[in-house]
Amino acid sequence: MQPRFEYPCLECGRGTMRTTRVPHYQTKINGIPFVVDEAVIGVCDQCGAIDFDPQETKRWEALFHRRCCSFLLPVPSLGSRAGKEVTVHTILVADLAGRHCLLSEEGEALCQVISRLLEQGNTILLDFSGVETLTAMFLNAALGPLYRRCDASGLDARLHWSGLDPQDARILEIVIENARAPFATAVPTSTQSGRGLSREE
Ligand SMILES: [Zn+2]
Repeated sequence: MQPRFEYPCLECGRGTMRTTRVPHYQTKINGIPFVVDEAVIGVCDQCGAIDFDPQETKRWEALFHRRCCSFLLPVPSLGSRAGKEVTVHTILVADLAGRHCLLSEEGEALCQVISRLLEQGNTILLDFSGVETLTAMFLNAALGPLYRRCDASGLDARLHWSGLDPQDARILEIVIENARAPFATAVPTSTQSGRGLSREE
């Protein structure tokens, strides 16, 4: 069932709300940034005011919850550490944040998920396969706060990643080095390319 708008705009009174498909629509669900692959919203053809259809926003919430439940793949291979089984949770970054990991807001959402799993004692594999664009800004927001904590010493054993090409892997290493050495200087920055490594604090 498609949402139908096509009614007079209440904002300007002149235009008509048109049913509009928006690819990669950025919204927030429960305060967490979320990208809807293709959202249908109403947009006024005169003033650009937008309106939402409750059925459509319900669909977004369902998508969000389905993704939040499905991006976690418990891996049964484990080995044991001190007699205790170690469960590795794989986070499919492309499923959670999309194929283009650009914005720090998206990185923060990933950071929240990782933090929660670490607090529960999990070991985590970040699987970047399928991610096409990855910025230092995103990685800074996703991983920086974890490595900046004073109790981050155990992270190397509990946080792993895969699916990165060598260049992105290097950027990730620099982000982590940066976070671990807050007073280090002379990190090259390039704000133009979006791959800048400047710290936000
Ligand atoms: Zn209008």
